[in-house]
Amino acid sequence: MSSVVCSVVIPMYNEEEVIQETYRRLKTVMDQSGESYELLFVNDGSRDRSAQIISQLAKTDSNIRLIDFSRNFGHQIAVTAGMDYASGQAIVIIDADLQDPPEVILRMLEKWREGYEVVYGKRLKRHGETIFKKATAYLFYRILGALTNDKIPKDTGDFRLIDRKVCDAMKKLNEKNRFLRGMINWVGFRQVAVEYVRDERWAGETKYPLKKMLKFASDGIFSFTYKPLKLATYLGFLLSFSGFLYLLYVLYQKLFTDSTTAGWASLIAVNLVFNGIILLILGILGEYVGRIYEEVKGRPLYIVKEEIGFREDEEEN
Ligand code: UDP
Ligand code: MG
Repeated sequence: MSSVVCSVVIPMYNEEEVIQETYRRLKTVMDQSGESYELLFVNDGSRDRSAQIISQLAKTDSNIRLIDFSRNFGHQIAVTAGMDYASGQAIVIIDADLQDPPEVILRMLEKWREGYEVVYGKRLKRHGETIFKKATAYLFYRILGALTNDKIPKDTGDFRLIDRKVCDAMKKLNEKNRFLRGMINWVGFRQVAVEYVRDERWAGETKYPLKKMLKFASDGIFSFTYKPLKLATYLGFLLSFSGFLYLLYVLYQKLFTDSTTAGWASLIAVNLVFNGIILLILGILGEYVGRIYEEVKGRPLYIVKEEIGFREDEEEN
């Protein structure tokens, strides 16, 4: 198979306003790197002209590859497809909206040449993002850190470089609900951070509305730890213990005092608390059962409609 030194994977979903500029910046940087490279765009079911723009550019630039999904499968799946198709010895994953500055790739490549197998971008600052996004991101990484014993690096995105060995290892992890930065951490290898300042989106608006963010966050937690399930055990233990204490108190009242308990208020209170907890725990169980269901179905992760720019491989076949 023909191969290049560096594959750059760019997932895109409705990025027509920015994608041309992204291409231009990436091309400049990669030409500077002095390595052979491919720019592997994954079109995640965009409803705008993103794919047309790239396929047009592919006619003039043989370094461009395009994988066109049959519909929107989500960012993490798009990146996965990019890793499946990448032929490089080093694979860089970068957002299409220029929030991750392409120039940082040069520093990542340097670290890679020094022998590191995972070079992840660590965000020093995040420009132009809402306080809500920053606050929820901050909280999410702390909760995830507490639940998974701190193993997944904080404040990193998917902007990173991985070695061919890491990419091959990742291909063996075929879970359906994918939290890539956790998975890359799980496979191990020598990891190092490169610090950078996250820019504003160059154009367009976020393709990660709250709903997708919540799905992403729950994949991060529920696919990486089963600690939430233990909540049932802890709470059950705590509640039955306090229930028992309360029972002793009630018995004492009944036997040794004259005060008659009306009963209503305490019953309702206890009822509400218990029902709430039971529902919460059922919900947590549901999260895991749902994920097991997804795995059991064994569907492919994504469906590709068209592949463009992989012609060198075709010639060899
Ligand atoms: N993206 C994607 N599929 C989606 C949503 C987003 O491929 O369903 C891409 C998007 O085009 C961008 C990257 O994932 O390249 C990150 O998305 P975005 O910048 O909207 O997220 P944010 O930076 O706001 O978290
Ligand atoms: Mg963005």
